[in-house]
Amino acid sequence: SDVKEALKNDHIFLVYQPKIDLATRKPYGLEALVRWHHPIKKMIYPEDFVPAIEKTSLIHMLTEEIFKKSLIFHKKLKEKGIEIPISINISTKNLYDMSFYKHMTAIFRDFDIVPKMVEFEVTETVLMDKPELSKSILQKFSEFGFRIAIDDFGKGYSSLAYLAQFPIHTIKIDKFFTKQILISQTTQAIVKATINLAIQLGYEVLIEGIEDKETADLLQSYGCKSAQGYYFLKPKNEVIITDYLMTNYKKI
Ligand code: C2E
Ligand code: MG
Ligand code: MG
Repeated sequence: SDVKEALKNDHIFLVYQPKIDLATRKPYGLEALVRWHHPIKKMIYPEDFVPAIEKTSLIHMLTEEIFKKSLIFHKKLKEKGIEIPISINISTKNLYDMSFYKHMTAIFRDFDIVPKMVEFEVTETVLMDKPELSKSILQKFSEFGFRIAIDDFGKGYSSLAYLAQFPIHTIKIDKFFTKQILISQTTQAIVKATINLAIQLGYEVLIEGIEDKETADLLQSYGCKSAQGYYFLKPKNEVIITDYLMTNYKKI
């Protein structure tokens, strides 16, 4: 009941972090990240409430509401001349639910937005646990025109060879690697090889968790085209993101 109330009152809301083109250092997309401003517990981060919600069927409602909120923001930006792709995070539980595809596409059809403006981020565990099921569901989303990204790549145990059977557009390399890349030659070798292979397999590659210029420059020298991280911008509310895009993003 807390979750339902919070969604209604906008106590559960979204912040956005830009995805950056490393060549120009300009934003080319946004990732929506959920926050809960709890009246007693104050600000709660997703890692402290999403797992609990995932244990219940409320996760479907949460993801659908998040999708709606992010599409509303996308439209608001478009009215200001800013048409920018938006990503949302999908829980494993969502993807295994038979009515999820139907619900998400029904929500989407109420908006006048091109599907390729939307990307769903899923983690590799989804694909490891029920490969056949997740393949068929991702296929449907992909055929609809949505883009699919693998989030936190490298944290689990799947390989790019394994992922190649799924309809995936983007590989997001986990920030675990970014953290130690400047001090570990092993990490440098792993990340460099991963970027090369992913590019050869036709994926877009994004590296998460960039906190300084040195790391951004190093990753760019490895051929990585996209990045996210506090160095560029921390996740921010709609007002700040709108201002930021007004000065940093091409208008339509
Ligand atoms: P994620 O999708 O991998 O999101 C990236 C997380 O890294 C975000 O944490 C972001 O704030 C943080 N981050 C970004 N840049 C940096 C950086 O330079 N350094 C460091 N140390 N961290 C950085 P956040 O917002 O706390 O989200 C954590 C995770 O919770 C997300 O990881 C995602 O798996 C999940 N999550 C977030 N929003 C949603 C949502 O709407 N639905 C679902 N199902 N899960 C969500
Ligand atoms: Mg994500
Ligand atoms: Mg991630």
